Amino acid sequence: NIEQKSVIVVGSGLAGLTAAVEAHNQGNTKIILIDKEKNIGGNSMKATSGINAIEPLNKDSREAFIQDTLKSGAGISREDLVTKLVDESRPALDWLIKESQVDGVPSLDLSVVSRCGGHSHGRTHRCPAQNGRPVPVGWKLIDTLKKRFTSFDDSEAQIITNSRVINLLTENNAVVGVEIVKKDPETEQELKETIKANAVILASGGFAGQTGKQLPDGQNTLLSEFAPQLVDTATTNGPWAAGEGVRLGLAVGAGMRDMDQVQVHPTGFVDLGNPTAPTKFLAPEALRAYGGVLLNGEGKRFTDELTLRDQVTAAIYRQSGTVHSRPNSLMSKKLPEKYASAYMVLTDEAVEGFGKSTLGFYASKGFFSQAEGLENLAKVLDVDTKQLEQEFKNYDAHVGQEKPDSTGKTFFPGPLSGPTTYWIGLITPVVHYTMGGLNMNLDASILAEDNTVIPGLYGAGEVTGGVHGHNRLAGNSLLECVVFGRTAGRNAALFA
Ligand code: FAD
Repeated sequence: NIEQKSVIVVGSGLAGLTAAVEAHNQGNTKIILIDKEKNIGGNSMKATSGINAIEPLNKDSREAFIQDTLKSGAGISREDLVTKLVDESRPALDWLIKESQVDGVPSLDLSVVSRCGGHSHGRTHRCPAQNGRPVPVGWKLIDTLKKRFTSFDDSEAQIITNSRVINLLTENNAVVGVEIVKKDPETEQELKETIKANAVILASGGFAGQTGKQLPDGQNTLLSEFAPQLVDTATTNGPWAAGEGVRLGLAVGAGMRDMDQVQVHPTGFVDLGNPTAPTKFLAPEALRAYGGVLLNGEGKRFTDELTLRDQVTAAIYRQSGTVHSRPNSLMSKKLPEKYASAYMVLTDEAVEGFGKSTLGFYASKGFFSQAEGLENLAKVLDVDTKQLEQEFKNYDAHVGQEKPDSTGKTFFPGPLSGPTTYWIGLITPVVHYTMGGLNMNLDASILAEDNTVIPGLYGAGEVTGGVHGHNRLAGNSLLECVVFGRTAGRNAALFA
């Protein structure tokens, strides 16, 4: 006879779906998952490099993972949140596998592990290809949790799409529901509705998807307010990443932090058919983890490809114009002058390691060309063969050793010299992730400006700030979504 409670989850990416499933797992709670888009999944669907967890098979440790994350945060991230992230990383993966079970058999396989930039050990997990086809990790995680959530009884689990949350309802300073605006699919008419609940979880993602100055309604984008220098840089995000959750939180007195910390990922693919397109496909960090190197227009390496993202990005900016300086290079012709770009080059062996089916997908989009042997590679780049040969020999001398080269690189996944087929792509830095967001505590409660808890309001994922500080490590965002999504789901369901 206990009255059924209800929890609203705003946003159906990995943080939202995790929170929704875990809130349901507490029992006696109806979960209402709301997304403004027609399809669920948000930016989480786009993730390809993987999700982190301490990996003992690679001599990884709790201490090493914490230190790598804090180092990347450069003194701005919160140590308590980072410690929770790491301590709950293995349980997070175990939970995902458990929730993927169909008739007791897991349908999720996260057994491929790579060592991405800024990580001292390989700990970024993703899915192996199936029947020769890539299984993108973000898509698979969303698919798994969506199947789980929709397997629950309709009276306990509801998904409402095409519905934008525009306000949080409050009573006596506690959050008690949401106001949504819903588009009638037939009449296109917009209808407003209020939905009451015992608690609300904000899982509405970040604000890296709106790179222009203004939104269609004339409001300034959060990016233009906090990182105006980036409004003209292309993005990897979908347009839904507009920071609405941050504004919803602010309207009920929430505090925020690190809003000017916006990650520019070093490697977005340049589509030569449309080089200045405002949205770009990500060339995932795992490509460099398997041995992809970066060359400037003169065919020279200029950075440790596996150092922190902000450092690789800064190094690419310093190479602006070098690709353009070689007019006979196949790729420079269509580039606007001074466009910050560099080549990403992989041997066939590196491609095998990463997954040939995924490379095939990128090649089908026109992001990769191939050259048989070093001489042909030099022709494509319009550089001297002998010099390129020497560049690769210098690199190869470090393979198998941990001795730093002139860029400071210490991890060399494999040799560059042939005979091999080289895969060549052109890349440019892209707006990718917003480290800042709403303040929260270890219980995933959203905090007011004075650091007191806002009763009934929880948050998880990119809408919150504090875990990543100055620079997010590859694989830590998906992990954050699961770790803090679980906490938010549990605590929201228990909130009376
Ligand atoms: P999202 O997944 O973006 O979901 C937010 C949802 O909220 C969206 O569906 C949106 O429509 C909805 N929403 C927003 N506002 C409202 C509103 N007002 N009302 C209703 N609904 C609303 N991270 C990793 O750890 N590993 C990777 O390999 C990786 N690769 C990436 C590759 C790409 C191309 C991109 C763009 C990001 C990548 N990231 C990766 C980052 C990571 O995917 C995201 O940071 C993370 O998935 C964010 O999850 P989320 O649940 O917080 O938000």
